[in-house]
Amino acid sequence: MIVLDTTLRDGDQAPGVHLSAEKKLLVAQRLDELGVDVIEAGTAVASGEEARAVKAVASAGLKAEVLSFCRIVKKDVDAAAGCGVDGVHLVFPSSDLHIREKLRVGREEALALVLDSVDYAKAAGLVVELSAEDGSRADPAFLAKVFQEAGERGADRFCVCDTVGLLSPEKSAELYGFLSKKAAKPVAVHCHNDLGLATANTLAAIRAGASEFHATVNGLGERAGNAALEEVVVGLKVLHGIDSVRLDGLYAVSNFVRVATGFPLAPNKPVVGENAFSHESGIHVDGIVKNPDTYEGLKPELVGRRRRIVLGRLSGRKAVEMKLKEFGFQAGGEQLERIFSEIKSIGDKGKTVSDADLLAIAHSVLTGEAREKVRVDELVCTTGNTITPTASARVTLELNGEKKQVFGAGTGDGPVDAALKAVYSALGESDVKLVDYRVEAITGGSDALVDVKVKLRRGDKEINSGAVGTDIVMASVSAVVKGLNALL
Ligand SMILES: [Zn+2]
Repeated sequence: MIVLDTTLRDGDQAPGVHLSAEKKLLVAQRLDELGVDVIEAGTAVASGEEARAVKAVASAGLKAEVLSFCRIVKKDVDAAAGCGVDGVHLVFPSSDLHIREKLRVGREEALALVLDSVDYAKAAGLVVELSAEDGSRADPAFLAKVFQEAGERGADRFCVCDTVGLLSPEKSAELYGFLSKKAAKPVAVHCHNDLGLATANTLAAIRAGASEFHATVNGLGERAGNAALEEVVVGLKVLHGIDSVRLDGLYAVSNFVRVATGFPLAPNKPVVGENAFSHESGIHVDGIVKNPDTYEGLKPELVGRRRRIVLGRLSGRKAVEMKLKEFGFQAGGEQLERIFSEIKSIGDKGKTVSDADLLAIAHSVLTGEAREKVRVDELVCTTGNTITPTASARVTLELNGEKKQVFGAGTGDGPVDAALKAVYSALGESDVKLVDYRVEAITGGSDALVDVKVKLRRGDKEINSGAVGTDIVMASVSAVVKGLNALL
């Protein structure tokens, strides 16, 4: 199975995504470590910046083959060759609609242009993967003819693109089955997700004979995106026993791409979404405690993740007990009842209960006092268009039974960054790291409530915390301070 990742080309074409050359190189290195066979690094001819990115990936000494996207135009092939890539992803309009509207010629002239470009790229010593754009709406017999003649001219692999995402799994199996039998070289499947069928269509094509697939991390791509790498490789393994890339590295790569692109992921995204291995309802958690197989079709460890029990309005006592145990608390009988009812009351207000909330509740129920090791008494933050955002904080710190007042100050990229740096500087040396920060506006206007969610890590202990408020700076500080109180 040949895995071609096109996060850096098709993924980079997603509205709102633009990866710099530096970021592309970092993503390419991660993909290489994951074990993808081919990386489509970009479109060399598109711009100077894009050429710089393609060149950086091509000269990074990766194990993967590196390609540049090219139209059937000589200057595209020249630009790719100039970047030192191993080969080209040579894409030609293949449906009558595309041939007529984009090339303004007939099938025979289109075929001649394809063959010229294949000759030109092969003469430059490049690997040629020849792709039929809008191939799912093209005449399969015409595709077979192009592939046969291009193969005779030295094209190395072929690909059929479901450019507009209109295939069904049945049609996919029929099309790729037919072309894989006809073609003398490997045929790849390239699917878009307009009907939510990209993964299903990709798997159906592979089952029918396609020996390569194209995908992007997190399903990034034009419109509704491309087939998601993580979904396809897990589907291949779990449903069909086919090995491809290192599955246990998928979550880390997905996170890396999410942060690098700033493109948010739906929490319910398969495999890599925040909720993909989370359980909240009492019935499910009870089953999980008895035997994880009851409600886990996929093992979280398979893709480098951990199971997460989320506490909320539907949680049962089992979930609370299990979660407490995870953090080293033993609670039973009356104490567990009290913790449980406090969690239910937060859940009933429509809020999720973060780890930090649970730990604060558990601590106060078990010890009879609030755990407030860090308290921000005063925070001043200034920002504007002519100054560097600056903040100062007065904090009461209670560590090892000793209470003291400390001060801190910081500057940052914005007021939130400055305020958090001020709090951290008041703490002095701290081994608690902020590993994730997300903010979402709950309501519409500029007076919106914001929901800040953070992840903090101390040693191998990682917890989530959160706060809601109309002031983004104060909500961010509250979320982090709640987390600090749970971890210190
Ligand atoms: Zn595409």
